[in-house]
Order: sequence, then C-alpha cells, then structure tokens
Amino acid sequence: MEKVDINNIKALEKEARLLEPTPAKREEVRDKIVKYTEGFINDIETIPAYVDGRKSSEVFLHSPITEEPGNIDELVKMLGEGMDNTALNPASGGHLGYIPGGGIYYAALGDYWADITNRYAGIFFAGPGAVRIENMLIGWTAELAGYPENSVGNLTSGGSIANLSAIVTARDYKKITSEKVKKAVIYLSGEVHHCIFKAIRIAGLNECIVRHLPLDECYRIKPAELEKLINEDKQAGLIPFLVVASAGTTDTGSVDPLQTIGEIAKKHNLWYHVDAAYGGYFLLTGYGKKILKGIEASDSFAIDPHKGLFLPYGLGMVVVKNKEALYQSHYYRANYMQDTIDADEEVNPADLSPELTKHFRGLRLWLPLKLLGLKPFRACLEEKLQLTRYFYEEVKKLGFEVGPYPELSVATYRYIPKNGDANAFNKKLMEEIQKDGRVFISSTMLEGRFMLRLAVLSFRTHLSTINTLLELLKTKTAGH
Ligand SMILES: *Cc1c(COP(=O)(O)O)cnc(C)c1O
Repeated sequence: MEKVDINNIKALEKEARLLEPTPAKREEVRDKIVKYTEGFINDIETIPAYVDGRKSSEVFLHSPITEEPGNIDELVKMLGEGMDNTALNPASGGHLGYIPGGGIYYAALGDYWADITNRYAGIFFAGPGAVRIENMLIGWTAELAGYPENSVGNLTSGGSIANLSAIVTARDYKKITSEKVKKAVIYLSGEVHHCIFKAIRIAGLNECIVRHLPLDECYRIKPAELEKLINEDKQAGLIPFLVVASAGTTDTGSVDPLQTIGEIAKKHNLWYHVDAAYGGYFLLTGYGKKILKGIEASDSFAIDPHKGLFLPYGLGMVVVKNKEALYQSHYYRANYMQDTIDADEEVNPADLSPELTKHFRGLRLWLPLKLLGLKPFRACLEEKLQLTRYFYEEVKKLGFEVGPYPELSVATYRYIPKNGDANAFNKKLMEEIQKDGRVFISSTMLEGRFMLRLAVLSFRTHLSTINTLLELLKTKTAGH
C-alpha cells in the first residue's frame, strides 16, 4: 500500500476544489448561460419550431471529453448551434405535433434551486420538507381527480414510468404470479399509448392475453363489448385482471367512457387503470371535469405535469388509491437503511417507486404553482381546448376532411387532392409545413388513412399560431 502523504493530499485538494467554482467564476458562467437562455425566451416567437439541422449536431461527435477545462463562450456557441438549432424546438409555441411540451420558466428556477441544495426527496427522515412538498403535490392531483385523501403516488420522470408503476402494482395486487400469466387477461384499446405495451412487457406480462376492445367512431372503447368479453373469458376459465382506459389518446385525444368502464371493472373485480398522461390536467377546466368524469372510479392513473401543466420534460406522476398496493410492489428494506424507517407521518417516496435516489422533482412543479397561482393554468388549458375547436371548424372550411370532433386538444384532418394518392399528398404536405419551420405538425395512421394531427398543448401556442398553420394549409393546397 502506498504511504499516506499529506502533501499529496493537499495537492489533490487543490485540484479537487476546482469542482467548487469561485463566486466570480460562478457569476461569469451563470451570466453567460442566463444571457443565452434569456435571448432564447425573448426571441421564442421568431425562432423556428423546426429546422432541418441534423448536420450541425455533428459538432458533438468531434468534441470529446478531455482532461483540461473548456471555455464557456465556445460551449454556449456549440450548444446553441449544435443542439438548440436542430430539428424540433419543443419550447416553441409552433410545436403542434405529437403531444407538445413547453417549459414554463419558474420550473427551471425550481430545478435550479433543487440542484444547488440537492435536497433528498426519497426518504422522509432525510428530507422532510422536500418529501412533504412532493406528497402534497400528489395529494393535490389526487384530489383534483376525485380520489380519496389517503391515496398515494409518486413523481416519476414521465408518463411511461408512471404507467409502468401502476401496471406492476395491478399485477401484484391481483396476484398474477408466473403460473397465472398465460391465463391472465388485460383489456385495452388499440389506441392506448405504446408505453402501455412496453410496460406490460417489462412487467413480465407479455404472455398475458391482451384483448383489444372494439372502438366507436370516435376511437373510444365500447363498454358493452368490454363486459361481454370479460364474461366470455371468465366462462373459459381465464383470469381477467386489468383494464386500461385513456383519458386522452395520443392519436386523436379521445377520452374513453371512464365512468362506465369503472362500473364494469368494479363489478368484475378488475384493476382499473387510466392513462391520463396527456389529458389529465384538463381537470382544471370546467369542461375537462365533465369529460373526465369517472376517473375517480379508477384504481390508479398516470398523469404528466410535463404535458398538461406545461413543465419542462421530466415530470410524470402515478397516483394509486390503495396505498398498501403501491407500497407492496415497490418497497424494500436494507440494513444500511435501518435508520430511515420511521413514522407513519409521511410516506417515503422511495418506498413507492423503483427509484431510490432521484432528482427532487417536486420543486419544479411547486414553485410555478405557488408563484403563478392556478388561474393562468386553467385559462391556458381552456384556451387550448378552444383553439383546437376553432382550428377544426376553420380547416373544414378550407375543404379538408376532418376526423372526429376534438374531445380535448387534438384534431385530425387530411386533404383529398383532386388527383393522386391522398396518403402521399398529405405526407408531402406535412413535410412542406415542417420545412417552412414556423409550425411543426405530425401525422398518424387511422384505418389506413394518413392523417395530419394538430395537438395544442404548448403554453406558447395562441390564436396567431393556429392562424399561421391555417394559412400554410390554405396556400399549400391551393390548386390541388
Ligand atoms: C405522452 C404519453 C405517455 C408517455 O408519457 P411520457 O411522459 O412520454 O413517458 C403515455 N400516455 C399518453 C396518453 C401520453 O400522451
């Protein structure tokens, strides 16, 4: 063994202390990054929603990690050009594709605070304030959905992990052990988000029988068919155990008949999970409360603040009515954790999650809600609903064929050209709009038809954005 040498330790300390920049250095670097990000926000209305920028991102391939420090000016330039000015700009109000995100500013400050102080939000013993913030936010969302007070949940990185946690919980609570998997039945709509199928596979349920329920003309589950199938399956000696409904599908924003499905699930003793990742926070609007009625009948739901509350990416939530069920699927004990087992006062987020150490995600949600109050969130969500209906009516006037009337903030539409293949035409139309760059739209397939989608959920999308898209659709289809 090498002899301990105090001078060596001191030399190492000198080098190691560079990890704590001086106040002057902190200020210098912070100011440059803030200058860039302030410029980004100030110019956001003119920065394209989409640029074809695959090439400029190659800068990162030629910039290895090295022993020596880098220069902040060069790094800001590299990130601006090689990262931000490439492809989709999710912060833009012109992002009208997939399910848009956003990124409200105060959330970034919440993250900043959480990162500087690095509070630990996994265990109540270690970070009671942080844990209480997170549990309070989950309680607030649970209440919004009409869940009882003793419901629990967890802040996740997004909807995919939230759905996974719920499905694992359903599996364990319904005791779907390995010998039962092949007889166990899951009921869902073919329109569920693909992360549900991912979760089923990851949860070891890939050999379950998965029944795709018939849908009505608005792509919603037909509940009568659900009950019929459950009865047939029971008679055949199978084990129906889980039904998944969507509170806002990704394709069309459709809301399954949540209440009726809940009644059937209850009657047949199925775990009822609602994927409200996209649509859940419309509960903050009067209309949303009505259309999402029945979510309170579920056993669990997933919801994404990084969608419906306009937060930057990285925040989903699972909420489960039965505290014991979520806990039994996720807790663990270890000797080195023996001091942390405490109090029934607050649940430990780490006991309700596959994660132990994680980012203190609560602050990025708490700070904006506290600073802004709920009113602008409600208005913004209501505005999104109305903009979508406005678009739907206007695009029809332009001669487009439209999909079902938007239940939330997604609309589908396509143009039927006088000549040629409609699918090819609409694909090209989408690409031309992307090339223009002011707005970004995406597409989907509905029964073999290539449909364009409008998804309004960026907090920066307003009437002028929708009018820009309508104008583009009008000019690009003129004469066809
Ligand atoms: C976005 C979405 C998901 C997946 O959530 P992530 O946050 O992207 O992991 C699941 N379900 C629906 C309905 C969604 O819109």
